[in-house]
Amino acid sequence: MNFDLTPEQDQLRDAVRALGRRYGHSYFVEKARSGGHTTELWDEAGRLGYLGVNVPTEYGGGGGGLTELAIVCEELAAAGCPLLLLVVSPAIAATVINRHGTEEQRKRFLPGFADGSVKVVFAITEPDAGSNFHRLGTVARRDGDDWLLSGRKCYISGVDEAQYVLVVARTEDAATGKLKPALFLVPTDAAGLTRSRLDMEIVSPENQFLLYLDDVRLPADALVGGSLDAGLPALFAGLNPERITVAAMGVGTGRYAIERATDYTATRKVWGGRSIGAHQGVSHPLAHAAVQVELARLMIAKAATLYDAGRDLEAGVSGNMAKYAAGEAAALAVDTAVQALGGAGMTTEYGVATLLGAVRAGRIAPVSREMILNFVAQHVLGQEKSY
Ligand SMILES: Cc1cc2nc3c(=O)[nH]c(=O)nc-3n(C[C@H](O)[C@H](O)[C@H](O)COP(=O)(O)OP(=O)(O)OC[C@H]3O[C@@H](n4cnc5c(N)ncnc54)[C@H](O)[C@@H]3O)c2cc1C
Repeated sequence: MNFDLTPEQDQLRDAVRALGRRYGHSYFVEKARSGGHTTELWDEAGRLGYLGVNVPTEYGGGGGGLTELAIVCEELAAAGCPLLLLVVSPAIAATVINRHGTEEQRKRFLPGFADGSVKVVFAITEPDAGSNFHRLGTVARRDGDDWLLSGRKCYISGVDEAQYVLVVARTEDAATGKLKPALFLVPTDAAGLTRSRLDMEIVSPENQFLLYLDDVRLPADALVGGSLDAGLPALFAGLNPERITVAAMGVGTGRYAIERATDYTATRKVWGGRSIGAHQGVSHPLAHAAVQVELARLMIAKAATLYDAGRDLEAGVSGNMAKYAAGEAAALAVDTAVQALGGAGMTTEYGVATLLGAVRAGRIAPVSREMILNFVAQHVLGQEKSY
C-alpha cells in the first residue's frame, strides 16, 4: 500500500490550504456568531473544483476519489474552517447518487455537486431511534405513482443551506411485509416539510434542525435508484465516505489547534529567557496530541486508499477506526492547545476554544465512539452483539 500523494494530489493539498488560509478561522467564527454561512468560501471552493473532486468527469467533476475529498476536508479544517457540509453533501449525498442513483438522477444532481451549486443534506437520525437505525419511524407510503413521507428527524445539519435533503425512510416490502429502508430526495421547500432550528453549544455557521415530515408528497423519481431494492446498498454506500471525511475534518482541526498552540508556546516567555515550550510539562502534551493526530491521519490514508481501490469491506473497518481515532485526537488536540495557551486559550482572538464544542460533538456524531467500538468488537474481534 502506497500512501504517497501523487503530484496532482499534492497540488490540490497546497491549493486548498491556500484557499482556506485566505478565509481563516476568524471568518468562520464571524459567520457563526452573526448567524451567517460560509457561502463565499463554499462558492469559491466550488468554482475551483474542490467540492467536486470525487464526482466523475463526465458529470463535470474532478474524477478523483475519497482520497482527494479527504484532502479538501482536512486542509480546510487545518485552516480553521471545518465545514460539516462537505461531509453530508459531496461525501454522503454525491456518493449515494453516483453509486446508486438512476442515470436521470446522476444527470440531474452530479453537475451541481461538481461545482458546489447543489447542496444535499442527509437525514437519518430520529428522536426515538438514535443510534439504532433499525427503529426508524419515518415511513414512505405509495399513493398512486407518488410517495407520501411522514415522520420526524433530529440534528439534521445544514437544512437551511440546502436545496434537498436525502431522507432515510422505511417502506413495506410487498413480498415479506418487512419494513426496509429507502432513500428519498426531498426538496427542502416541499409542502409538508417543516423545520425548527436546535440551539447547539457549537460555534459553527452550520446549524442543526428538527425536521417534521407531514405527508410530504414526492414524485416517483424522488426514490434514489428508482427501486426499493436500491435502499439498503445506497444507505451503506454513504457510510464509508461519511466516516473518512469526518475523520479528515477532525485531523485537520487537530493540526490547526496544535499549530496555534505551538506558535504561541515557542515564543511566549514568562520565566526569563526560555519559552514556555521549553518546559516539558507544556511541550509533551502537545507532542502527545501531535502523535495521536498523525496516527489518525495514517488510518485515514489507509481507509481512503482501500475505498478508492473498491475494497469497501476493508475500508469499512479502517474508516470506522479512522473516525474513532480522529475524533479522540481532535478533542485531545484542542483541549491540550487551550491549556498550553493559558488564558489566551479561552479568548476568541486566539481561535482555539471556539472549537471545543465542535470537537466534542465529533466524538458523538455522525456515529458515536461507542457504536464504533461495538462495530470493532463484533466485526474485528468476533464478539457477540449485546443489543
Ligand atoms: C453536531 C451534530 C450534527 C449532526 N448532524 C446530523 C445530520 O446531518 N444528519 C443526521 O441524520 N444526524 C446528525 N446528527 C445526529 C448524530 O448522528 C447522532 O447524534 C448520533 O448518531 C447519536 O445518536 P443520538 O444522539 O440519538 O444518541 P443515542 O443513540 O441516544 O445514544 C446516546 C449515548 O448512548 C450511547 N449508546 C447508544 N447505544 C449504545 C450501545 N448499543 N452500546 C454502547 N453505547 C450506546 C451512544 O454512543 C451515546 O453516547 C448530528 C449530531 C450532532 C451532534
